[in-house]
Amino acid sequence: MHYFEPLSDVIGGQFVQQVQQLIENSNQILITTHFSPDGDALGASLGLYHFLKQKKKNVKLMVPNSFPYFLKWMKGSDEILIYEYNPKAAKAIFDHSDLIFSLDYNIPKRIGNMASLLEKSDAKKVLIDHHLFPGDIYDVVISYPKISSTSELVFRLLYQADEYDEMDKTIAECIYCGMMADTGGFTFNSNNPEIYLIISLLIRKGIDKDRIFSLVYNNLSEDRFRLLGFTLSQRMKVYPELHTALIWLSLEDQKQFSYNKGDTEGFVNYPLSIKDIIFTAFIREDGEMVKMSFRSQGTFPTNEFAAKYFNGGGHLNASGGEFYGTLEDAISLFENCIEENAEKLRGTI
Ligand code: 5GP
Ligand code: MN
Repeated sequence: MHYFEPLSDVIGGQFVQQVQQLIENSNQILITTHFSPDGDALGASLGLYHFLKQKKKNVKLMVPNSFPYFLKWMKGSDEILIYEYNPKAAKAIFDHSDLIFSLDYNIPKRIGNMASLLEKSDAKKVLIDHHLFPGDIYDVVISYPKISSTSELVFRLLYQADEYDEMDKTIAECIYCGMMADTGGFTFNSNNPEIYLIISLLIRKGIDKDRIFSLVYNNLSEDRFRLLGFTLSQRMKVYPELHTALIWLSLEDQKQFSYNKGDTEGFVNYPLSIKDIIFTAFIREDGEMVKMSFRSQGTFPTNEFAAKYFNGGGHLNASGGEFYGTLEDAISLFENCIEENAEKLRGTI
């Protein structure tokens, strides 16, 4: 006879109660998420947004800058306020909010120019996140780095608050999208059996998980598909003895393929398909800075690498950072850094 364990209470019960109380006492709620919002950032934020709207709360959702086209199918994405487009209006919204949620980021710096508005605000502040080192400006900290997505934490929060019955298909779709995005479609960071218990509970809400996968991953423009081919054939260097691969794109390369925001999302993962490659980097010229993305499989800590050399951070297997200088300098610094880590990189296989 087999039976399934029920979903465990990952989030401390006192936090669930505190958040419920704060929501009840609030008049104007603001949900925020990190710069260059990804699937998890938006899935978690929109999931919570729809839930609060359903509860007849006044709620707004604000992100620092725009987000990729393949996330725009999510209901409510056209209601998201983009700080960069109207910083003055954004300030007024911060001033009028008495409860602010920070979703999928640990410290104010990750929301760019919105950071000072958050820090100066008198509103109560709740963090829901899965990055290491939560900031110290929060009234309630729901921070569980072992959980693979913030969207999963939003599900758990609602579930533990006994709101599963209230969850509708729209909320479930957003949460599923976020869980899928931060695990690469459940291909990494996804061995916790409870993830699949949650997916089962989401499917019971009527979501079509296969359709959601297609909307996010099988939605490439022709330009983007050709840019991927170009990147892998013309802009990739492999360091076999270090089990590392690097891809890069200049501004000129991006222009040639009519680059749009989000067009290179996921590119960094591809070189991990090469046998014995366990660490990949993607270096992309991005206006005044060079954006770095890192991925690994196994134990190589990309977040420590990003923090040590590129003023960044993130998770063990997925992180990013920034470099101020030329693309060429970023590449040669990267090459020096992997040499410095040669022992660790060689030791991983
Ligand atoms: P991506 O490579 O998709 O841009 O970022 C992967 C993950 O790395 C993000 O989810 C985030 O946790 C982290 N990350 C990316 N860029 C930065 C950065 O500049 N600073 C920090 N602290 N984390 C970053
Ligand atoms: Mn996330």
